[in-house]
Amino acid sequence: MNYDVIIIGGGPGGVSAACWCAELGLRALLLEARAELGGQLLWTHNPVKNHLGVEAENGRRLRDIFVRQAGNYDFSFRLSAEVASVDANKKAVVLAGESITARRALIIATGVRRRELGIAGEKEFQRRGILASGKRDAESVRGKSVCIVGGGDAALENALILAESARRVTLVHRRDEFRARGEFVEKVRQNPKIEIMTETTVEKIAGRDKVEAVELKNKGEIFTVPVESVLIRVGVEPNTGLLRGQLNLDAGGYVEINSDCATSAAGVFAVGDAANPLAPTVSGAVGMGATAAKVIFSQMSLQSSP
Ligand SMILES: Cc1cc2nc3c(=O)[nH]c(=O)nc-3n(C[C@H](O)[C@H](O)[C@H](O)COP(=O)(O)OP(=O)(O)OC[C@H]3O[C@@H](n4cnc5c(N)ncnc54)[C@H](O)[C@@H]3O)c2cc1C
Repeated sequence: MNYDVIIIGGGPGGVSAACWCAELGLRALLLEARAELGGQLLWTHNPVKNHLGVEAENGRRLRDIFVRQAGNYDFSFRLSAEVASVDANKKAVVLAGESITARRALIIATGVRRRELGIAGEKEFQRRGILASGKRDAESVRGKSVCIVGGGDAALENALILAESARRVTLVHRRDEFRARGEFVEKVRQNPKIEIMTETTVEKIAGRDKVEAVELKNKGEIFTVPVESVLIRVGVEPNTGLLRGQLNLDAGGYVEINSDCATSAAGVFAVGDAANPLAPTVSGAVGMGATAAKVIFSQMSLQSSP
């Protein structure tokens, strides 16, 4: 099969790019590592009301609308298809030993993943005390002690959500100032159930079969706080490891692009959160997907005009 465009990633940015390619008559193949389309929308349990045109009770509902609408467009896609490597100069991707080359362009729409702490206990206790979502798991912490790690909006918003049901919330942040919005900081400071520990790091998550304590470090002193649950919200990092050495990335690993969503390699575009460290949104990702497809189409039309 010959594809004009290969799109890596099936979140809002990739799905938008695929729909726009189809709209413009470009033959597109979308490759998604997971078993479902949707990207971060699949782990968004809060309402998404800020994407103009639709108000959804959570990310999955918005994803369902995207997928239903995408069904009206003629593009190919493969699920559980993780791209293992990219040859940007050849506009080729390799997955499960198979190499596929795009005739016109590659679109990188690989998004971001949650940053990990990289400490002992973090992997072992996933779903055994380490929570996946504050909103979704709020009932499971009723009457329990919870440690939340992080200092941004996600950490503080979740501290407020979990304080409604938890007995006690310990908010651990490595810096002395929070990055989160003022309204969250104010509410957290006023909540008697939330204990704030700044300039403190989590060294270890401890327990036998499930989380029983966190080992914390403050100014060189190590101490243990008994908790039954932990929620880690220390930011995100881009899924761009496979592009290292192929495209210009910034210091954080985000793909550098221009206003056409074009990268440093000819014919390679990047859209959505993987190329948008400062303003990651559904609307941004969807818009960038449209931009990349339209630019690819325009360049193709220019090349073929006499
Ligand atoms: C809890 C939460 C709440 C949010 N709330 C809002 C909100 O209210 N409003 C808003 O606008 N935004 C919100 N966002 C952000 C929004 O979800 C993202 O901006 C948006 O999903 C970005 O879309 P994307 O397509 O760039 O990337 P993603 O959604 O991250 O999708 C990237 C996809 O690429 C796939 N992929 C990665 N690497 C590979 C590979 N090598 N091969 C194949 N596939 C690969 C991934 O599996 C993933 O499916 C929220 C995010 C979270 C986590």
